Amino acid sequence: MTTPPSDRELLCESCGYVLTGSDSDGPCAECGVLVAESLASCRDGAIWQRQKSVLGHVRGLFAAVLRPGHESRRLIIRDGAMPTRLVANILIAAALLTGAFALAQPTAAGTFARSGVELGAIFASFIALLMVMTWIETRGVRLFGRQRAWRITPAVAWSVCTQASFGWIVGAAAALVVAPPLAPILGVVQDLPGADVLVPGRGPRNALALLILLPVLGFELLVYVGIRRCRFANRP
Ligand SMILES: [Zn+2]
Repeated sequence: MTTPPSDRELLCESCGYVLTGSDSDGPCAECGVLVAESLASCRDGAIWQRQKSVLGHVRGLFAAVLRPGHESRRLIIRDGAMPTRLVANILIAAALLTGAFALAQPTAAGTFARSGVELGAIFASFIALLMVMTWIETRGVRLFGRQRAWRITPAVAWSVCTQASFGWIVGAAAALVVAPPLAPILGVVQDLPGADVLVPGRGPRNALALLILLPVLGFELLVYVGIRRCRFANRP
């Protein structure tokens, strides 16, 4: 395990070679990519960083999902655990997931209503779950980076996970779409002998917990792309 250079060093964003002191008009001595392409000024911000409005946030979501590599390459590395935008995305994703559960679980009376208290508890649980999973991910990518001599500082880990948190929203929206048609099927599956070994407990409610895999998939895919584009990222 090699110690990565400090975040004050200018690294070649392509190969990780230390460029501090190199001619900014020349190429990287290791891989030949222009030094100018690794300057921190090349990271001019993902859309959600450049446009501080609700519309900018929505555009940032589409860009993060449709062009994750491009957006990660422009991501500005900033300090701060649990940045505001990350918390906002977690709240939105938790609300969508709560909606997925509410829609997918008709009450005995045949309506889709649930008690406000119960929905509130589910919403709070999803917020806590997504926050904890995001925090674990920041620790995980730093460990992963250390093993590969990548420079994944806390600032890089939190910036990448904030960008990737748009994946929580997209996955949760997918869960909201598939939950209602899936619920009756899961109910049938749950009634089969032995099904409760796979998902403990009875009824579609427990099987629906598997829907959390959709936002996890969305988030993890964006972290995967983001961390590779930011493994030698230079900060302002
Ligand atoms: Zn290089």
